Amino acid sequence: MEIDIIELSDDKARFVLKGVNPAVANGLRKSMLSEVPTMAIDYINIYDNTSVLFDEQLGLRMGLIPIITDLDSYVLPEECDCQGEGCTKCQLTLTLSAEGPSMVYSGDIQSSDPNVSAADKKIPIVELKERQKLVLEAVAKLGTGRKHVKYQAGVACGYKNMPVFTFDKDCDACGKCVEECPREILSIESNAVIVKDPLQCILCKLCVDACDINAITVDEDVSTYVFTAESDGSYPARELVIQGADTIIEKARELNEILESIE
Ligand SMILES: [Zn+2]
Repeated sequence: MEIDIIELSDDKARFVLKGVNPAVANGLRKSMLSEVPTMAIDYINIYDNTSVLFDEQLGLRMGLIPIITDLDSYVLPEECDCQGEGCTKCQLTLTLSAEGPSMVYSGDIQSSDPNVSAADKKIPIVELKERQKLVLEAVAKLGTGRKHVKYQAGVACGYKNMPVFTFDKDCDACGKCVEECPREILSIESNAVIVKDPLQCILCKLCVDACDINAITVDEDVSTYVFTAESDGSYPARELVIQGADTIIEKARELNEILESIE
């Protein structure tokens, strides 16, 4: 297995994964979407709410605010020593107190742990008018995307096979394929068609259709994948991919233990 990083920022990773089969590539994609433990607000105690939002709407909105996740300090409630009752190892208390006129943002939520707070401080929660108040306490826990979408750290995780271009010797460099390509990745140099950036190809094969003499073929390399993974902010994109792979390893280890126990 080989990995070439194309782009890496806090919220987005693009990389080429070589030498794996579709099961591994799809396993990694699904793991990032539904298996990586992520912190999210699970329930709220409302002490005062005279805003225009009903308590339930407020709860739904706050649940979807991405929270920075720290797996070194917190464990999943079902794996905690307290057996899910709730303790400082498996849950975090947050508070929100605001009075109008003002716009309440995710950044106004105060966390009892300085390392774990709203990932994006500018998510609007509700606009308070004169004399409107909002006072609440929220409890955040770890969960997985499989249980609820609010625990989904990977928001746009997908891949395509690496495109492979072949130009026949009959190619007369007429340029029709160059004009047709919506991504403008083809060009003519020294009387031959060249592919400037194959990673931008979306495998639409319009270039193949445009060629009158069938001189182009675009195939897919079935063991090479161009991956894109975006994080909701709970993890840096790099950490999301690592956690996705770690989760698969952990599940394989658990399966191995079960198989060994029934021998
Ligand atoms: Zn606990």
